[in-house]
Amino acid sequence: MKESQLPSSSVKKNEDEIWKRCWGMMVPPAVKMHIWRACHNLLPTKDNLFRRGVCADQICPLCLRDTETVIHITWECPSANDVWGGSIVKLQKCSTNGGSFRQLFSDVLRRCEKREVELFSVTARKIWMRRNRVVHGGLFQHPNQVLKEAEVGLEDFRRLNVPTSHQEDHAAEADIARWQPPPPNTVKINWDAAVDPYNKSIGLGVIARDERGKFLVAYSKHQWIDVEPVIAEALAALHAIILCQEENFQNVVFEGDSLQVVQAINSDSQCNSKYGHLIEDIKKGTRSLASSIFTHVKRSANEAANALAAMARTHVTDIVRWDFTPHSIGGIVSREELSSPS
Ligand SMILES: [Zn+2]
Repeated sequence: MKESQLPSSSVKKNEDEIWKRCWGMMVPPAVKMHIWRACHNLLPTKDNLFRRGVCADQICPLCLRDTETVIHITWECPSANDVWGGSIVKLQKCSTNGGSFRQLFSDVLRRCEKREVELFSVTARKIWMRRNRVVHGGLFQHPNQVLKEAEVGLEDFRRLNVPTSHQEDHAAEADIARWQPPPPNTVKINWDAAVDPYNKSIGLGVIARDERGKFLVAYSKHQWIDVEPVIAEALAALHAIILCQEENFQNVVFEGDSLQVVQAINSDSQCNSKYGHLIEDIKKGTRSLASSIFTHVKRSANEAANALAAMARTHVTDIVRWDFTPHSIGGIVSREELSSPS
């Protein structure tokens, strides 16, 4: 059934739901405003300006071929395709059904989880900003750079806007995964990486805690290299192994939020990717341990390592070993320790 055939009360309910979810996103206010304006066809596209008589043509300034509507410049233009083509698969599968940006956004809301909707929204605004730069004589940004800027920007925003416990109560996000302590006589090591594509550097974070959630030791490491996030993640996992060997931890649970890396480590077959040598070193390292397991967790259950990596990305100190909880992750570590069953 087309939207126009729906009873008006259903359309209204659907609209309300869209705006509730739009304003509930954890993204900068400018992004919410952009999505709202895009859904209401309020962006100054060439098509809109032409209709108001302030522009001589409607032609898209990027492909120089089609009419520049909101949906064209954000989604249908080949220049936008190149950006979304590198994005997560779920977003690539969304469609407009030949309709407007509002229909596309509805489909994104229907198919994707909250964090994916947020990534979509930030990316959509980045695409619009890139278009504006070109219109004002600036350089055309590479699609990968648009995506990276969206991802890094969103990650930084989330890190600086961790909800207070009061807000968390009301966030209706009871399904968010939380850090859990390891079984008795076992150490849990969380690892993560943060990439800064502009400065061509990465930050690695590794933290070890015991069965009661007590801090044991941590590593943070900054490196000047230009690598893809997955390679940085593999490097962080390797440092988790190195920390283990140095501390002589024997029974260890390793946790990271890179599914790709965890799957490669757990696979029996040889990893033939670019980071295959790192995976093989990690596998070799685990053989010297009495017992070990590599598991994948959601980022919300990997917060301490995530924050350490983000800190290391901006602190140009090669490697720091922490025998006490670093100040920047003190809040996270004590919260997770307190919520661990004693
Ligand atoms: Zn175009």
